Amino acid sequence: MTINFEVLHKDIAGRCGKLRVGSKTVKTPVLLPVINPHIPLITPKEMQRMGVEALITNAYIFYKSSRFRDAALESGLHAVLDFDGVIMTDSGAFQQSVYGDVEITNTETVAFQRAIGSEIIVPMDIATPPGAEYPNARAELDITMERIREALTVIDDGHLAAPVQGGRFTDLREEAGRRVRDLGITFCPVGAVVPLMESYRYRDLVDVVLAAKQGLFPSSCVHLFGAGHPSMLALAAAMGCDVFDSAAYALYAREGRYMTTHGSLKIGELAELPCACEVCRTHTARELGDSPDRERLLALHNLHVTLAEIARIRQSIQDGTLWELVDERCRNHPRLLSGYRRLLTRAPDLVAQDRVSKRRFFYRGSESCGRTEVIRYHRTVDRIPVGKTVMIACTEQDTPPGDGFDTVLRFKPPFGPYPPELSETYPVGQSEIPEWDGDMVRAGCVGIRRLVEANRESAFTVVAGEHWLPVFEQELKDTGVQYGTI
Ligand SMILES: [Zn+2]
Repeated sequence: MTINFEVLHKDIAGRCGKLRVGSKTVKTPVLLPVINPHIPLITPKEMQRMGVEALITNAYIFYKSSRFRDAALESGLHAVLDFDGVIMTDSGAFQQSVYGDVEITNTETVAFQRAIGSEIIVPMDIATPPGAEYPNARAELDITMERIREALTVIDDGHLAAPVQGGRFTDLREEAGRRVRDLGITFCPVGAVVPLMESYRYRDLVDVVLAAKQGLFPSSCVHLFGAGHPSMLALAAAMGCDVFDSAAYALYAREGRYMTTHGSLKIGELAELPCACEVCRTHTARELGDSPDRERLLALHNLHVTLAEIARIRQSIQDGTLWELVDERCRNHPRLLSGYRRLLTRAPDLVAQDRVSKRRFFYRGSESCGRTEVIRYHRTVDRIPVGKTVMIACTEQDTPPGDGFDTVLRFKPPFGPYPPELSETYPVGQSEIPEWDGDMVRAGCVGIRRLVEANRESAFTVVAGEHWLPVFEQELKDTGVQYGTI
């Protein structure tokens, strides 16, 4: 019995996989709703009917509650919560630091989590806040690593999660990933990122997560600890996060907030309920807002929306359309757009993890020019065989006759030149682009430049309409390319 993770489909750095926890299997990406046994707005049984395969609860709440502690020790968490899926427990290091009236040590919490039947056990790590200075972040990382090693002496059967800390420092996050990897632990939460998400610092989130990923094995199952708002899950999945947890569905409900994939709204401000879930189809906005059962109904809706987004992400990964989903979601908030653009700057490093062929490529504006598929195409364009004289027909309409040229290539921005026989293959054949714009043509010129530089002995002529010709001349300066118009 142990934890292992198998990747089935990939898209960008995201993956669909199977997380095996003992004898149970969970599909990833997966959302673990947070359960507080004192206030179960939605019971674990109900969640199971909604398709929830795993949940997370706080071991410290059980430890310090006279009501739940003995019951959990006697009959186990699964019986107490009435849930037979996977149960993960958090050590509650944070709760202890805030409401620390009952002390518990690292070895005591992991032994307690085991005793109550938790299947994914978290040691008492130190969550270094993003504001911490470097020496503190380093010292706390060392303590966290010490605690993980100590916990391994109690939990030695693979059910221990190893948090990756390091504050806002990417070198520490990468080092933490490496040190966790060297301990051979499969399940790796990236910790202390909630303050980044709460303050919409998605750009920093991208840096921190990609740094941690760099240190970890590609086969590590990565849990983005505390991430559960549907608007950012696609971005997180694209970075290669496999597990999310959500207390947000309940916390937002308590504040009267209605989640959507493009942000949250106060229920009182809504005239309509734009959602297909049962709550929204059986209530008007007014009825929901005024209901004595408002908190529970909102929690149900919020959880439905979040679970549906997880399903959408899984489908996108299988289809190879995750970039389109990330693009769509991240346009809903400027700070998410910052995070998305940051991820695009890292696309050259992500190409190796991305898959080679996808179902389609939809151009959605200049950001699409930085996608992994475009970079991959540019890297392989020099394999196109060419003769001594080459015409590249850069037109949106029909290819002009290439009489007198050894090779005639077509041009599809943002990719670049391609031989007519590749017109049906990915990505050229499965990409849909609108009328050309400057960004896509400039990106396509990167492809032309690469091809020209790889074939110095050939003479290239770019044939384009008068409107676009200056752009080609500008972008292909000093390549020795000749020009013609049509
Ligand atoms: Zn709904």
